[in-house]
Amino acid sequence: MIGTEFEFFAPRALDEALDLLARHDDAKVLAGGMSLVPVMSLGLAHPAVVVSLNHLADLDTVSEEGDTIRIGALARHKQVGSHPLILRHVPLLAQAARSIGDVQIRNRGTLGGSLAHADPAADYPAVMLVLDARLRLARQGNERVVPAREFFLDVMTTDLAPDELVVEVQLPKLAPAVGVAHERLRRVEGAFPIVTASALVEPGRRAAVGMGGIGPTPVLLEVPELFEGDPGDAVFEAIGQRAYDAAESAMEDLNGSARYRREMARHYSQRALRQALARTREGATR
Ligand SMILES: Cc1cc2nc3c(=O)[nH]c(=O)nc-3n(C[C@H](O)[C@H](O)[C@H](O)COP(=O)(O)OP(=O)(O)OC[C@H]3O[C@@H](n4cnc5c(N)ncnc54)[C@H](O)[C@@H]3O)c2cc1C
Repeated sequence: MIGTEFEFFAPRALDEALDLLARHDDAKVLAGGMSLVPVMSLGLAHPAVVVSLNHLADLDTVSEEGDTIRIGALARHKQVGSHPLILRHVPLLAQAARSIGDVQIRNRGTLGGSLAHADPAADYPAVMLVLDARLRLARQGNERVVPAREFFLDVMTTDLAPDELVVEVQLPKLAPAVGVAHERLRRVEGAFPIVTASALVEPGRRAAVGMGGIGPTPVLLEVPELFEGDPGDAVFEAIGQRAYDAAESAMEDLNGSARYRREMARHYSQRALRQALARTREGATR
């Protein structure tokens, strides 16, 4: 139960939503409510005003424009995991979306809400880094596009201004030969992951792994050594060591110590990269 009163608005147009955010200092945006409602129920946030995005038309559309896939911020995880354009051109994102929480969370939770919330354990942030995503942000009378690599600043802290919305995520299409894999460690079905590893291998061009759940913000590791001849166990072990080293900001909580997280970064990054590489050898990414 939410113990404090708040004023609720359900605007029908983006301009109206931005105007409400500009006029109210103590406003919070409601998308899927899967994180905001628990936070308010626990008394960790008590905004005076809640502005729902759920009646805005076109904020959940998925489209393609040239080499770019555009996804509206209000696209639900279920939609992200099953949309034909996402499955074909950015399958790593679809894999991540399908792994989130349980069916209720996937039916309600949104891409934009997850990115704005910036939970260090969330599945999407590291995927955004690997895919070189850009986020279109809007506030009254002003729009800007921010690379995902500059968006996540700290635990649940992003580059968003208080009166600014994530309205769209822009992703470069992957080539058909790209192999991808999203791997995650979680203890029970439906729970947040403890550590995630999202890998991409484009033969001869780029190999990278993004790691989530490690430290305050996602960690990106480029791994060009995957192209040096036939990468055997020694190459993967060296990559695992680099993942361990890159996870130096690892945090400790009830799920595990910082050392444990770094060991999981070592293990899951190798596992995801091996899978992504295997998929390139099967000749398909999908
Ligand atoms: C039991 C459970 C299990 C979960 N498991 C996972 C998991 O495995 N992996 C995972 O990644 N996530 C998981 N989640 C989180 C889930 O993905 C949420 O859906 C997500 O974090 C928030 O999205 P939302 O649309 O519900 O946002 P909301 O809860 O509506 O909002 C979250 C925050 O973002 C702000 N916000 C929302 N939309 C925007 C926007 N467009 N622009 C600016 N600010 C905005 C809100 O004001 C609020 O501060 C889980 C949640 C629960 C409750």
